[in-house]
Amino acid sequence: MFKSNILVFSFAIIVSLSAFANIAITPVHSINEIPHTAPLKGKYRLHLLDVGTGLSILIQGHDWNLLYDAGSADDKSGNQKNGNSHSRVVSYLYKAIGKSGVKSCQPAEDGWSGHTGLTQKTIDYVFLSHPHEDHGVMLDDILECYQANNIYDSGRINNTVFYRRFIERVSEEVGAKYKTAKVPAANKKVKIKGKVIDLGNANWEQFKVLDVVHLDDSAFFTILHANGTSHESDPNSNSIVIRLDLGDVSVLLVGDAESGPRKIPSADLDGLEKELFDNFKDLIDTDILQVGHHGSLTSSRTKFIEAVSPQIALISAGPKKYGSVVLPDEAVVESLEFQGIHILRTDAYDGEICPVKNKVGRDDNRSGGCANFILEW
Ligand SMILES: [Zn+2]
Repeated sequence: MFKSNILVFSFAIIVSLSAFANIAITPVHSINEIPHTAPLKGKYRLHLLDVGTGLSILIQGHDWNLLYDAGSADDKSGNQKNGNSHSRVVSYLYKAIGKSGVKSCQPAEDGWSGHTGLTQKTIDYVFLSHPHEDHGVMLDDILECYQANNIYDSGRINNTVFYRRFIERVSEEVGAKYKTAKVPAANKKVKIKGKVIDLGNANWEQFKVLDVVHLDDSAFFTILHANGTSHESDPNSNSIVIRLDLGDVSVLLVGDAESGPRKIPSADLDGLEKELFDNFKDLIDTDILQVGHHGSLTSSRTKFIEAVSPQIALISAGPKKYGSVVLPDEAVVESLEFQGIHILRTDAYDGEICPVKNKVGRDDNRSGGCANFILEW
């Protein structure tokens, strides 16, 4: 039935991509299982965080890191001004990258009473794939606690409190480059939900499709979709799509890229998936795919998945309904399975008790924190 295909194991397994590349997959249930040292030179680590209903992926090289989204639709509480942080993503980063920032960044489970404020550690690249809460509601806390060097945002304005808070933080992130798919406003100002925010100090630049950014000697990412216009009805179509080449392994992050309305996987390609298929059929062919829109029937058309032909599919999903459905849609999961793709899902313990104490973030009955995965190669 619904969860029969969930991969539940407590030890690392190895997925072989070729004679040259093996990927070790380790489930992470507790905060204590997160490695706190960077990968060795030439090695890479991808963390799929269990944020409940939403998405957050952290990727690390030896001397750089990249955060793609930090959102949740059902666990939005973040840094407390007079107490500890309740953000699962901050908790995770505290372990994976290190303790950082003002006292309100300190997660409750950190247990270190001497925290009076710390030098900020760096996140080299921070992405908001598109301006929806389930992808970005915790990013203002991340920018409060960590120094972001490069911040990528489609630039499409969503008149919501969370997006305004994010852009306010961007305006205060001294030294960061703020990059949007949209042409920067001439006066360097944006108006969001009634408030004008001055981005004059933000080193605001435009990024474009096929921009390539080098991360180290054997790692780079390529922008495959950059669109900051508001013409489409839904910000999902503004999702920043990137391909990462990390040593011998390639990764495709698509945010909530769609093929149009909910249809069976064998339906025709449309929308952003069609655009990617038509323009970049070779570049979307990757080893690891973040499954679009949480495994919804709006996305993952068979033709698209066949072109990507991943070995591993990452599905970040939780119990909160999108409209009338809880994602992922079973037909999408079955379609991925039919193609022999190894599926990792963050909803494995939703509605159940996490089998360990000290799940990531606060240890209560809210979803999230228990079904994280680390992929290393
Ligand atoms: Zn989403």
